Amino acid sequence: MKCQKCSSVMSLVYGMDHYHCAACNTFEFPTDLENSSDGIVPSGRKTDFLCPVCPDSNLEIGELRGSEVCFCNNCRGYVIDSLTLGSMISALRAAYQGPDDRPILINRSELGVTIKCPACLELMNTHPYHGPGTVVIDSCMQCKLSWMGYGELAKIIRAPGIRA
Ligand SMILES: [Zn+2]
Ligand SMILES: [Zn+2]
Ligand SMILES: [Zn+2]
Repeated sequence: MKCQKCSSVMSLVYGMDHYHCAACNTFEFPTDLENSSDGIVPSGRKTDFLCPVCPDSNLEIGELRGSEVCFCNNCRGYVIDSLTLGSMISALRAAYQGPDDRPILINRSELGVTIKCPACLELMNTHPYHGPGTVVIDSCMQCKLSWMGYGELAKIIRAPGIRA
């Protein structure tokens, strides 16, 4: 697939259904925001926080399954309160009725990509998510915030493992 903006070749993001242009940081998604697997509902309100992945994109306020998040309309990543994320994952995994994903290996190269916390601008802790699924997430221990990339929540929910 060619990038619409700069016509470089886009690459499929590992384990996901969307494409990324490394040359100009453009993303191509199979659906619009509200119909994507994460299901973020935008409020139309922008914040002063910048996306840690897309330097010139301000995060916007949105709602994810009843909780407020700050998301980026370019990469569709979002910041969420870490405790809220934990309870959201337990509830969604317990309620999930669909088939499990086939397990895939973690993408080790993602562990080498660090980003700054949008709130305090300190480096976030990049680590494999401790629960089911082979997803790399970023957390700020100080702000108790997590950065989730597009599609990562859905991947954690579909991962095989205990659903209690
Ligand atoms: Zn491009
Ligand atoms: Zn972004
Ligand atoms: Zn922070």
